[in-house]
Amino acid sequence: MDHFTLRDGRMFCEDVPLERIAEEVGTPVYVYSQATLERHAQVFRDGLKDIPSVHIAFAIKANPNLGVLRVLADQGYGADVVSGGEMARALAAGVPADGILFSGVGKTPAELKAGLEAGIGQFNLEHEPEGMALAEIAAAMGKRAPAVLRVNPDVDAHTHAKISTGRAENKFGIPIHEARAMFARLAAQPGLDLRGVAIHIGSQLGDLAPLEAAYTRIGELVRELRADGHKITHVDLGGGLGVPYRADDVMPSPAEFGAMAARVTRDWDVELMFEPGRVIAGNAGVLLTKVIWVKPGVQNPYVIVDAAMNDLARPVLYDAYHDFAAVRPTGETMMANIAGPVCETGDTFAMNREIDAVEPGDLGIFRTAGAYGATMASTYNSRPLVPEVLVSGDRYAVVADRIAAGTIMAAERVPEWLK
Ligand SMILES: *Cc1c(COP(=O)(O)O)cnc(C)c1O
Repeated sequence: MDHFTLRDGRMFCEDVPLERIAEEVGTPVYVYSQATLERHAQVFRDGLKDIPSVHIAFAIKANPNLGVLRVLADQGYGADVVSGGEMARALAAGVPADGILFSGVGKTPAELKAGLEAGIGQFNLEHEPEGMALAEIAAAMGKRAPAVLRVNPDVDAHTHAKISTGRAENKFGIPIHEARAMFARLAAQPGLDLRGVAIHIGSQLGDLAPLEAAYTRIGELVRELRADGHKITHVDLGGGLGVPYRADDVMPSPAEFGAMAARVTRDWDVELMFEPGRVIAGNAGVLLTKVIWVKPGVQNPYVIVDAAMNDLARPVLYDAYHDFAAVRPTGETMMANIAGPVCETGDTFAMNREIDAVEPGDLGIFRTAGAYGATMASTYNSRPLVPEVLVSGDRYAVVADRIAAGTIMAAERVPEWLK
C-alpha cells in the first residue's frame, strides 16, 4: 500500500498535489512519501515479530537520500552500506554507528579503517584476504573488528541475472564448502571477532522457496561451525524481498516472509540480521515527469517525457517495468510507447502499452521508483542530476537539489596545453 492516490481527479502524494510539486520544483523529480516509508518499515518489522532477537539494516544503496535515511533511522533501522560514501551518509543521517553493517565485495583497506574508526557494528567479509587485512588493521589500532563471513549458498534466486547474487559463479561470498576451513583460519586472528555468517542471494525475489533453501543451508553451516568449537552469535540473512511493479504481481508479504524466517531459524539461538532495501523504499517513491511531445510512431505514438534513462535506469538496465499513470487522468486511454529524450534506443520506458491518454504538457508518474531510482541517476547527455522531494502530510521538502549541467561542467577543465 502506498500514499499516491487520486483525489477529485488529481494525483496526490499524501496531502500534496503532485501538480504543486511539478510547478514549484520542476520536472523530472522523484517524490517520496514519508508515511509510506514508515508504514513499510513497520510492516516489515511486524513480520519478524516471532523472532526473538532481530536487527534490521536498511540496504541504503536502494535509496541513500539523507532525508529518507533519517525517516528510517527514526524507525529504529540500522544501515547496510557497501562503500565509504554510503557509510558517511548513514552516519550523517543519524544512524548509530553500531547499527551499521558494511557489505560489499570491494571494500578497500582505507574503507575498512574508516569503518573501524567510526565504530560500525559489523563487517560482512567477502573472502579471506579481506578478513586478514581487516584483522591486521584492527589489531594495529588495538581493536577487534566485529565480523561475519558471507557465504555463497549456490541457490538460484529466480530473478533477473544482473541482480542474482547467490549462485556459485556470482562474485559474492565464499563457496559454502570452503566456509568451515576459512572460518577457522579467520577466527584465529586476534584482530577479528568473527561471530557468524551472512548471505544475500539476490534482489526482487518473488518466491520464498530459494530464500528458504539458502537459510536452511546456512542453518546447517551454523551447526557445523558450532561443532567445530566456534561461538556463533549472529547470522545476517540479507535482503531481497520483491515488490509488485505491475498491478497483478503477487509478492510474498513481509508477514509470510517473517513466518518462514522464524520457522527455519527457530533453534538457531542467534541475533538475526536483515537487510531489506527495495521492499522498504520501492513503492514509497514515484518519478514525476512531464510530457514534452507526442510523436507519431509506426505502430503506436511515442509519448516523449522529460524523464530519461539517466534519471531512472532500471528499464534499460534490467528491462524493468514501471507503471505509468497520468496525474490528471481523463478516463481515456491510448496505446503508446513512452520514451525519454536521451539519444539511445534503450531510453524507452514502455512499448505498446495501454496508458492513460496524455498530451504535451501533461504530467505523469512512473510508479515504484523509490528504490534503485535516483540513486542510479547520472548526467548522461549533459542532463541535470534529478532532484528528490520528501512529502509528509501536507508539507514537502526538496531533499536533493537539481544539479544543473553547468555545475557539473564547472568541475571540468581544458588542460593548459590546449589553451
Ligand atoms: C542490495 C543488497 C541488499 C538489498 O537488496 P534488496 O533486494 O533491495 O532488499 C541487501 N544486502 C546486500 C548485501 C545487498 O547487496
